[in-house]
Amino acid sequence: MTHQSSIGTEQIRERLSELLGPGAGEISDDVVLAVVDDPLYLHHLLISRQTPAFLRLLLDSPPETAGASPVPRSAAKLSRQAASSFWKWAKSGFEFVPDEQYERRLAACRQCPHLTDPPQSKLYDVATVARRGDDRKICDLCGCVVASKARIPSETCPDPRPGRGDVNRWGEKVGSPQ
Ligand code: SF4
Repeated sequence: MTHQSSIGTEQIRERLSELLGPGAGEISDDVVLAVVDDPLYLHHLLISRQTPAFLRLLLDSPPETAGASPVPRSAAKLSRQAASSFWKWAKSGFEFVPDEQYERRLAACRQCPHLTDPPQSKLYDVATVARRGDDRKICDLCGCVVASKARIPSETCPDPRPGRGDVNRWGEKVGSPQ
Protein backbone atom coordinates (compact mmCIF):
# COMPACT_ATOMS: atom_id res chain seq x y z
CA MET A 1 0.00 0.00 0.00
CA THR A 2 1.38 3.39 -0.91
CA HIS A 3 2.06 6.14 1.58
CA GLN A 4 -0.68 8.27 0.00
CA SER A 5 -3.38 5.60 0.25
CA SER A 6 -2.34 4.75 3.84
CA ILE A 7 -2.99 8.34 4.82
CA GLY A 8 -6.36 8.20 3.05
CA THR A 9 -7.35 4.99 4.80
CA GLU A 10 -6.47 6.25 8.27
CA GLN A 11 -8.21 9.57 7.71
CA ILE A 12 -11.37 7.79 6.68
CA ARG A 13 -11.12 5.37 9.62
CA GLU A 14 -10.70 8.25 12.09
CA ARG A 15 -13.58 10.21 10.55
CA LEU A 16 -15.80 7.14 10.70
CA SER A 17 -14.97 6.57 14.36
CA GLU A 18 -15.94 10.17 15.13
CA LEU A 19 -19.17 9.93 13.13
CA LEU A 20 -20.31 6.55 14.45
CA GLY A 21 -19.25 6.97 18.06
CA PRO A 22 -17.70 4.52 20.51
CA GLY A 23 -20.40 1.89 19.89
CA ALA A 24 -18.85 1.17 16.50
CA GLY A 25 -15.67 -0.17 18.08
CA GLU A 26 -12.66 -0.81 15.86
CA ILE A 27 -13.40 0.11 12.22
CA SER A 28 -12.13 -2.69 9.97
CA ASP A 29 -10.28 -2.27 6.68
CA ASP A 30 -13.24 -3.85 4.87
CA VAL A 31 -15.60 -1.24 6.30
CA VAL A 32 -13.26 1.57 5.23
CA LEU A 33 -13.06 0.16 1.71
CA ALA A 34 -16.81 -0.37 1.53
CA VAL A 35 -17.47 3.22 2.62
CA VAL A 36 -15.17 4.45 -0.13
CA ASP A 37 -16.80 2.16 -2.69
CA ASP A 38 -20.39 2.88 -1.81
CA PRO A 39 -21.64 6.13 -0.28
CA LEU A 40 -24.97 4.45 0.36
CA TYR A 41 -23.27 2.04 2.73
CA LEU A 42 -21.99 5.06 4.65
CA HIS A 43 -25.47 6.53 4.54
CA HIS A 44 -26.86 3.33 6.08
CA LEU A 45 -24.19 3.42 8.77
CA LEU A 46 -25.02 7.02 9.63
CA ILE A 47 -28.75 6.49 9.87
CA SER A 48 -28.19 3.37 12.01
CA ARG A 49 -26.25 5.20 14.71
CA GLN A 50 -29.28 5.20 17.01
CA THR A 51 -30.00 1.52 16.42
CA PRO A 52 -26.90 -0.31 17.66
CA ALA A 53 -28.07 -3.76 16.49
CA PHE A 54 -28.41 -2.58 12.87
CA LEU A 55 -25.18 -0.63 13.09
CA ARG A 56 -23.39 -3.76 14.32
CA LEU A 57 -24.88 -5.86 11.52
CA LEU A 58 -23.83 -3.33 8.89
CA LEU A 59 -20.32 -3.07 10.31
CA ASP A 60 -20.03 -6.84 10.38
CA SER A 61 -21.29 -7.22 6.79
CA PRO A 62 -19.78 -4.54 4.57
CA PRO A 63 -20.51 -4.91 0.83
CA GLU A 64 -18.25 -7.37 -1.00
CA THR A 65 -16.88 -8.88 2.21
CA ALA A 66 -20.38 -10.29 2.82
CA GLY A 67 -19.98 -12.38 -0.33
CA ALA A 68 -18.56 -15.86 -0.56
CA SER A 69 -15.16 -14.95 -1.96
CA PRO A 70 -13.96 -11.50 -0.99
CA VAL A 71 -11.29 -10.16 -3.31
CA PRO A 72 -8.72 -7.78 -1.83
CA ARG A 73 -8.97 -4.44 -3.52
CA SER A 74 -5.98 -2.45 -4.54
CA ALA A 75 -4.57 0.64 -2.92
CA ALA A 76 -4.92 2.32 -6.31
CA LYS A 77 -8.66 1.67 -6.31
CA LEU A 78 -9.00 2.97 -2.77
CA SER A 79 -7.01 6.05 -3.63
CA ARG A 80 -9.06 6.75 -6.76
CA GLN A 81 -12.41 6.21 -5.12
CA ALA A 82 -11.46 7.96 -1.91
CA ALA A 83 -11.11 11.03 -4.05
CA SER A 84 -14.65 10.63 -5.33
CA SER A 85 -17.78 9.59 -3.46
CA PHE A 86 -16.66 9.75 0.15
CA TRP A 87 -14.89 13.09 -0.09
CA LYS A 88 -17.55 14.62 -2.31
CA TRP A 89 -20.17 13.87 0.29
CA ALA A 90 -17.81 14.73 3.15
CA LYS A 91 -17.37 18.19 1.59
CA SER A 92 -21.08 18.76 2.03
CA GLY A 93 -20.72 17.87 5.71
CA PHE A 94 -22.75 14.69 5.09
CA GLU A 95 -25.79 16.87 4.48
CA PHE A 96 -28.91 15.66 2.70
CA VAL A 97 -30.74 17.34 -0.18
CA PRO A 98 -33.76 19.57 0.63
CA ASP A 99 -37.12 17.74 0.83
CA GLU A 100 -38.35 19.30 -2.41
CA GLN A 101 -35.36 18.01 -4.38
CA TYR A 102 -35.62 14.62 -2.69
CA GLU A 103 -39.28 14.26 -3.67
CA ARG A 104 -38.51 15.35 -7.24
CA ARG A 105 -35.76 12.76 -7.56
CA LEU A 106 -37.89 10.00 -6.05
CA ALA A 107 -40.85 10.83 -8.30
CA ALA A 108 -38.57 10.36 -11.33
CA CYS A 109 -37.29 7.03 -9.97
CA ARG A 110 -40.85 5.80 -9.40
CA GLN A 111 -41.63 6.42 -13.10
CA CYS A 112 -38.36 4.91 -14.30
CA PRO A 113 -38.07 1.55 -16.11
CA HIS A 114 -34.80 0.94 -14.25
CA LEU A 115 -36.54 0.77 -10.87
CA THR A 116 -36.61 -2.84 -9.73
CA ASP A 117 -36.86 -5.07 -6.66
CA PRO A 118 -33.66 -5.62 -4.67
CA PRO A 119 -31.87 -8.97 -4.96
CA GLN A 120 -31.74 -11.41 -2.06
CA SER A 121 -28.82 -10.17 0.02
CA LYS A 122 -28.10 -9.54 3.66
CA LEU A 123 -27.00 -5.98 3.01
CA TYR A 124 -30.15 -5.09 1.08
CA ASP A 125 -32.24 -6.76 3.79
CA VAL A 126 -30.65 -4.54 6.43
CA ALA A 127 -30.60 -1.45 4.24
CA THR A 128 -34.31 -1.70 3.53
CA VAL A 129 -35.53 -3.11 6.84
CA ALA A 130 -37.45 0.05 7.71
CA ARG A 131 -38.74 0.57 4.18
CA ARG A 132 -41.92 -0.63 2.53
CA GLY A 133 -43.19 -0.90 -1.05
CA ASP A 134 -41.38 1.17 -3.66
CA ASP A 135 -39.03 2.57 -1.00
CA ARG A 136 -37.29 -0.84 -0.97
CA LYS A 137 -36.60 -0.74 -4.70
CA ILE A 138 -33.24 -0.26 -6.33
CA CYS A 139 -31.93 1.21 -9.55
CA ASP A 140 -30.80 -1.59 -11.85
CA LEU A 141 -28.12 0.63 -13.38
CA CYS A 142 -26.24 1.43 -10.18
CA GLY A 143 -27.65 -1.07 -7.64
CA CYS A 144 -28.56 1.69 -5.20
CA VAL A 145 -31.64 1.82 -2.99
CA VAL A 146 -33.11 4.91 -4.63
CA ALA A 147 -34.92 6.13 -1.51
CA SER A 148 -31.48 6.40 0.13
CA LYS A 149 -29.44 7.48 -2.87
CA ALA A 150 -31.79 10.35 -3.70
CA ARG A 151 -31.07 11.92 -0.30
CA ILE A 152 -27.37 12.35 -0.97
CA PRO A 153 -26.34 15.62 -2.65
CA SER A 154 -23.24 14.16 -4.30
CA GLU A 155 -25.18 11.31 -5.91
CA THR A 156 -26.58 11.51 -9.41
CA CYS A 157 -28.91 9.55 -11.66
CA PRO A 158 -26.78 7.61 -14.19
CA ASP A 159 -29.32 7.67 -17.03
CA PRO A 160 -29.94 10.59 -19.41
CA ARG A 161 -33.59 11.59 -19.73
CA PRO A 162 -34.94 10.10 -23.00
CA GLY A 163 -34.60 12.59 -25.82
CA ARG A 164 -32.28 14.80 -23.76
CA GLY A 165 -28.51 14.55 -23.63
CA ASP A 166 -27.98 17.31 -21.12
CA VAL A 167 -30.08 16.23 -18.14
CA ASN A 168 -30.63 12.91 -16.41
CA ARG A 169 -33.94 11.39 -15.37
CA TRP A 170 -33.83 13.44 -12.17
CA GLY A 171 -33.83 16.56 -14.38
CA GLU A 172 -30.34 17.45 -13.18
CA LYS A 173 -27.32 18.16 -15.32
CA VAL A 174 -25.71 14.92 -16.56
CA GLY A 175 -22.62 13.92 -14.60
CA SER A 176 -22.88 16.72 -12.09
CA PRO A 177 -25.06 16.44 -8.98
CA GLN A 178 -26.92 19.62 -8.01
S1 SF4 B 1 -31.46 6.71 -10.38
FE1 SF4 B 1 -32.13 7.32 -12.46
S2 SF4 B 1 -31.91 5.47 -13.72
FE2 SF4 B 1 -31.91 4.83 -11.57
S3 SF4 B 1 -34.05 4.36 -11.08
FE3 SF4 B 1 -33.72 6.50 -10.50
S4 SF4 B 1 -34.33 7.68 -12.30
FE4 SF4 B 1 -34.01 5.56 -12.97
